[in-house]
Amino acid sequence: MTMSESVWARVDLRPIGIGGKADGAVLQALHAGEGLLMFLRFEAIYAMLSAAAVEAEVGLDAVDRRVVDVFANVAREVSTVLCVAASTADRQVNLAVEAVERLPQVARLMRDGVISVAAFGDIVLQATGVADADLIAAVDTATAADLREMGGVSRTDAANAARRSVAEVDPDGVRERRQMRGKAVTVSHDVDGSDVTIATTPEDAAVIDASLNVVADAVCGNDSRTRGVRRHDAAVALLTRGEFVCDCGDDDCAATAPESVVSDRFAKVVVHVVADAATLDGDSEKAGWLDGYGVLDAHHVREVAARSDAVMRPLDLAGLADGTAQPGNSYRPTAACDTAVRAVFGTCTDPGCARPAWRCDLDHQIEFNHDEPAAGGATCPCNLNPKCRFHHLLKTFGTGWVDDQVVDANGVIWTEVTTPTGFTMRSRARNQWLLPDLGLVPCRHGETVAPGVVDDETQPERARTRTQAKHAHRMRIRSRRRYARACAEAARLVTAEEDGEPPL
Ligand SMILES: [Zn+2]
Ligand SMILES: [Zn+2]
Ligand SMILES: [Zn+2]
Repeated sequence: MTMSESVWARVDLRPIGIGGKADGAVLQALHAGEGLLMFLRFEAIYAMLSAAAVEAEVGLDAVDRRVVDVFANVAREVSTVLCVAASTADRQVNLAVEAVERLPQVARLMRDGVISVAAFGDIVLQATGVADADLIAAVDTATAADLREMGGVSRTDAANAARRSVAEVDPDGVRERRQMRGKAVTVSHDVDGSDVTIATTPEDAAVIDASLNVVADAVCGNDSRTRGVRRHDAAVALLTRGEFVCDCGDDDCAATAPESVVSDRFAKVVVHVVADAATLDGDSEKAGWLDGYGVLDAHHVREVAARSDAVMRPLDLAGLADGTAQPGNSYRPTAACDTAVRAVFGTCTDPGCARPAWRCDLDHQIEFNHDEPAAGGATCPCNLNPKCRFHHLLKTFGTGWVDDQVVDANGVIWTEVTTPTGFTMRSRARNQWLLPDLGLVPCRHGETVAPGVVDDETQPERARTRTQAKHAHRMRIRSRRRYARACAEAARLVTAEEDGEPPL
């Protein structure tokens, strides 16, 4: 059969909303269809495997998956039909077994378009180490229940949900597997260059990451390198006891700092971990959260807390009820409010963006009114969420988009974004499980009656006075151009830079 004869081209998809005017809803339907087709593919592969096992007169559970007659034969057929390498075909058969035998509830999320095919693969990876049948069933149930209600599940969200289920269902197994994972530095070479890989713990990786940024950012505005290259040069300098200097060529460059200043900067490297007191005390196996990494199992949280360089700060939610903004500056949240909001969302709240919360701006969902703070958007967990600089710009200056944030009757915090074509994505705060009571902290502010014009931090200029109003049209165009430029610039930097870091 050639492609032109494929029955798919003749299927009428209009009854299910595909084929008319293209918009967000159509895109979503097509995305869901991919998941359904892959689910059906896995079922088919599994059925072939079962049939081959019957043929070979072995029970499927007794099949040694290296036995040529059964597993390899089916894998070879997959390889032949799909024209893929043997290793890819093996993986397909393995995923089929996972979808049918080990993670059937999660697989149904893929069938229903709740998670992508790639996210399913990520969940399988997280659950690989769980061998016990009862435990994997519990992981399947917990992960599926969590993701089904989440809304807008990215691959990172899927992996974190699975990691949390595994951590809480199988804490001993997780701890064992984590401790078996080796630490090493390896060097490999290929035709055009070489790689140095450090296999280490998530917390040390986070510290290294933050430290490289600290050094890499210590240059003046005339440095010619991208941030990715500066991070590389900083790493090489630190590992070889070399010097990291600004490359502007100016002998008097203020950025070329003496050793003492560099050490001072290092002292300011902070990596945030949020966990329950009960977890720290060893009374609970509830997981914690490491900013920039994700879910940490309870034992791991206790290990990190026991480090000599760890600083512990209680997060007082009861105290938060008495004040969410700093006294004297109602635009700035208190430290507790700031921490709680970043922790409960975990990442930038734009669907699909995995930028760690502590590298984001805290955005007032409804704009703060600097002239009349009590009338504008409140500095309160109900109206604050993290947005990376790129998405903060998009939210502030984008046209045709509507953002919202709601706390439902159960204290669950949701963000919502409606696209210009009218598609609404509603997402639960990713780490609602981490701080389930945050949304129940009573608000101490009134209704918003007069939101501010635009968020102060990113606003190029304000269009509020009468004089300025005369130029409203021109300003709109200017701001649109500025917005387009800012987006292009941010997109350029995101692509150009190794770690996808937007400009700060
Ligand atoms: Zn310089
Ligand atoms: Zn973002
Ligand atoms: Zn509030």
